[in-house]
Amino acid sequence: MTDIFDQIIDGEIPAYKIYEDDAVLAFLDISQITPGHTLLIPKKHLQDIFEYDEDTAAQVLSKLPVIARAVQNSNPDIIGVNIFSNNGEGAGQVVPHSHFHIVPRYAGDNFSITEFNNAAQYSDEQYQKIANSITSHLQED
Ligand code: AMP
Repeated sequence: MTDIFDQIIDGEIPAYKIYEDDAVLAFLDISQITPGHTLLIPKKHLQDIFEYDEDTAAQVLSKLPVIARAVQNSNPDIIGVNIFSNNGEGAGQVVPHSHFHIVPRYAGDNFSITEFNNAAQYSDEQYQKIANSITSHLQED
């Protein structure tokens, strides 16, 4: 299935490209949550993080700090960078082609990723049960 990012990779629709090699492409996100908001994607069509093979993971993730540093250094007003990836419609993924958002932060911008601390609701047993459940699924790789 071809998606809008495949079309950008193939040059069928334009994008403000930042970096490109055989395996990855970085370009400005059209929505510009903040100025410099960039996407890093694999050229291989992978819908989400769950479809990654080791080689593609290495190719994409090794470039994440490179792009993040470039974004950070591109403007002296940038005070930090949020990196996130939505995987699955339930997690807010809209474009079905894996991508990492690199969002530079500026003093007074209105962007926020809200984190909750639910630690008070967890016993040692509950933590251990969850950890065991996740660990038991590592072998599926
Ligand atoms: P997500 O909600 O994580 O799937 O994010 C998809 C992102 O793709 C959104 O932030 C969109 O603004 C961005 N996007 C969609 N179409 C384009 C496009 N043609 N060029 C650049 N970014 C795009």
